Amino acid sequence: MNLLPIFNPATGERLAEVPADDADSIAAKAAAARAAQPAWAAVPLADKLALMRRFRAAVVAERETLARTLSLEVGKPITQARNELNGLLPRIDFFVEKTASTIADEDVFDDGAMRERIGHVPLGVVGNVSAWNYPWFVSCNVILPALLTGNAVLYKPSEYATLTGQHIVRLLHAAGVPADVLAGVVGAGAVGAALVEQQLDGVFFTGSNATGVKIAQAVAARLPKLQLELGGKDPFYVRPDADIQAAAEGLADGAMYNTGQACSSVERIYVHERVHDAFVEHFVATVRGMKLGDPLDDATYIGAITRAPQLAVLQAQVDDARARGAALRCGGRVLPGPGNWFEPTVFTEVNHTMTLMRDESFGPIVGIQKVRGDDEAVALMNDTRYGLTAGVYTRDETAARALLARVNAGTAYWNCCDRVSPRLPWAGWGDSGVGLTLSTHGILTFTRPKAWHLRRA
Ligand code: NAD
Repeated sequence: MNLLPIFNPATGERLAEVPADDADSIAAKAAAARAAQPAWAAVPLADKLALMRRFRAAVVAERETLARTLSLEVGKPITQARNELNGLLPRIDFFVEKTASTIADEDVFDDGAMRERIGHVPLGVVGNVSAWNYPWFVSCNVILPALLTGNAVLYKPSEYATLTGQHIVRLLHAAGVPADVLAGVVGAGAVGAALVEQQLDGVFFTGSNATGVKIAQAVAARLPKLQLELGGKDPFYVRPDADIQAAAEGLADGAMYNTGQACSSVERIYVHERVHDAFVEHFVATVRGMKLGDPLDDATYIGAITRAPQLAVLQAQVDDARARGAALRCGGRVLPGPGNWFEPTVFTEVNHTMTLMRDESFGPIVGIQKVRGDDEAVALMNDTRYGLTAGVYTRDETAARALLARVNAGTAYWNCCDRVSPRLPWAGWGDSGVGLTLSTHGILTFTRPKAWHLRRA
C-alpha cells in the first residue's frame, strides 16, 4: 500500500504517514457511495440536522486539538487556526437554519386546475477535491450542504491538509453520517485525478486555476455538474478621502493574514497619489510589526509557507519586480530553514509589466501602485483575468458602490477586505472559477430542480 508522508512545513519534520488511495480503492468507495445514497437521501432532514448539531458540538469540544493539527501540518499560526475553527461554527449554523426552507418545494402557479411546482432533489454522488489553505472552510462549504441535501460525498482533502481532512471525516462519521455516504480519499494530484474519473453527478473543486482547467477537461465527456473555486489577484483602491490609517492597517492584515495564502488575500493595492506616501508609511509600519515565527506560538502572526515549491514562485516575483524598477520597502527574501519561510514583503513603484501585479502570489507579498483617480484605479483593477474579490476604501459609500459596480469580481468590499460570510455567495468570476458556495444558493447548488406540472383530474 502507498503511504502519503505528511510534513510540518515550519520545521521540515515528518509528522505522519497515511495510507493512500489508488484507482481501485477509489472505484470501490464510489460504488459504495452510489449504493448508499438513496437511503441517505430518504433520511428525514430533521435527523440530518441533528447530526450536524452533533458535529458542531464535537468541533467545539476538540477545538484545541484540531487547531494544533491544522497549525502543525499547514504551518498556520495557532491563533489563526483557532479562528478558522471558530469561523466554521456560524457556517454550520447557517446550513442548519436554512436548508429546510431553501430546498422546500415551491408552488409557483395554481389556477385551480393546474399547479406548477419546483422540487429540489439531490445531485446523487458528488466528489470534492479540496485545497489546504483553509481546509475546514473550503471542505465544509461543500460537504455539509451536500450531505444535508441528500448527496453522498467522496472527499479528497489536499495532500497538505490530510490530517485535518481525516478529522473532518472522523467527526462526521461519529456524528452519524454512514461511512459509505461520506468517504475520505487520501492522496495527491494523481489520486484527485482518479477521483474525478469516477461516474460522479457533481465535481466540486477548490484549488488553483491550472488544476481547475485540468479537471474541467478530464470530466467533460461525463458532464457532471462542475464547480471550480480558483485563485485570485484581488485588487483594492484607496481613495484620497479614506481613513488612511484604518485602510493601511486593514489592508496589511488582508494581505498578510494566513501568511498571504488565501484566495481572497489582498494582492494589489492602488492608492491615490495625494495619500500614497502616508498610506505606504502606515502600511509598511504595520507589516514590520507582524511577528514571524513558530506557528504554535500565540504571538506569531506570519507562519510558514505551506508548499515548498511556492518559495521559488515568490522569489521569482521579487526578482522580476526589482529588475523592472520596483522599490522594495520591506522583506523580499526566503529565510533559512529548516522549514519554508518567506519574509513579509512590500513593493511600491510597481506596474502591470511585473508578475507581482499579474500572477497570483499566494504568499506574503503585495505591490502598492500610485494612481491619479477613480477611472485609472478601475481600469487597473479590471486588468486581470481573475475576478474573486475587490474593494474600495473611502468615506463615500455612493462613490464606493459606483466604483465597485464597474469592477469584475464576485465579491465587493467597502472599507473591509478578506471577509467571507455564510449568508453571501462565494463566487469567482473569470479565471477565479465557475459556480459558488455559501448562501442559500450554495445549498441549492447541491440539488437539481425538478419541474412538476400537476393537473387535477
Ligand atoms: P492545487 O490546485 O495545487 O490543489 C488542489 C487540489 O487538487 C489538491 O487536493 C490536489 O491534490 C488536487 N489535484 C492536483 N492535481 C490534480 C488533478 N490533475 N486532478 C485532480 N485533482 C488534482 O491548489 P492548492 O495549492 O491546494 O490551493 C491553492 C489554490 O487554491 C490557490 O490558487 C487559491 O487561490 C485557491 N483557493 C481558492 C479558493 C476559493 O474559494 N476560490 C479557496 C481556497 C484556495
